[in-house]
Amino acid sequence: MPEASVSESLSSARERLQAALSAAGRPDDAARLLAVSKTKPADMLRQAYLAGQRAFGENYLQEALEKRQALADLDDIEWHFIGALQSNKTRDVAEHFDWVHGVDREKIARRLSEQRPAELEAINVCLQLNISGESSKSGVALADLPALAETLLSLPGIRLRGLMALPAPSDDFRQQRHAFRQLATAFAELQERFPEARLDTLSMGMSGDLEAAIAEGATIVRLGTAIFGSRPPSGE
Ligand SMILES: *Cc1c(COP(=O)(O)O)cnc(C)c1O
Repeated sequence: MPEASVSESLSSARERLQAALSAAGRPDDAARLLAVSKTKPADMLRQAYLAGQRAFGENYLQEALEKRQALADLDDIEWHFIGALQSNKTRDVAEHFDWVHGVDREKIARRLSEQRPAELEAINVCLQLNISGESSKSGVALADLPALAETLLSLPGIRLRGLMALPAPSDDFRQQRHAFRQLATAFAELQERFPEARLDTLSMGMSGDLEAAIAEGATIVRLGTAIFGSRPPSGE
């Protein structure tokens, strides 16, 4: 069988998102798709763009900057940095991205804020929470979340939008929901604690667990494989 085109996969992904929202009793526009395009050529992003996609997520800075160049003729693409962010990369991210998912340290946040060019709006940031049972070492611990959020809310170059997480992959729907529920609970507590901040973003769910994430309140799902096909294992 020939591989599905990007526009076909994208419309299946949209249908899948709509079905999940409707199953969860949530409005059609309660969540949106971030097209995760790491390792994929600029031409595939262009195809997604022509099919109406505007938000793209990239993990690797150099690769992302090259694609940004290659797609400079396309208006209003929204670039999301979703990879691990080291402090020597914050300047490029502050200058060239609209969103950062996955800030988990004050130092990174301060640098992003200081390095955000004055003529641009504040950069949108989600704090990465390390939910329990997660193998990865990245992400802020739940106990440290309120203090870090408070710091971010004081930084002029940053607009804190909410939380993201990368739970350990699981094939079990209940287990997936359990992990996402921890993030949703932490998000609700944060919203309650900082009502003026108008936190509105819960970035969770990928190709393998979109339905569970939507059931637990995701507002951005980050889909790579479901839109662009599989990646070489080393691409992760
Ligand atoms: C690669 C990646 C995704 C997309 O994963 P798929 O399983 O291909 O949908 C989502 N979020 C992050 C942070 C990623 O690194």
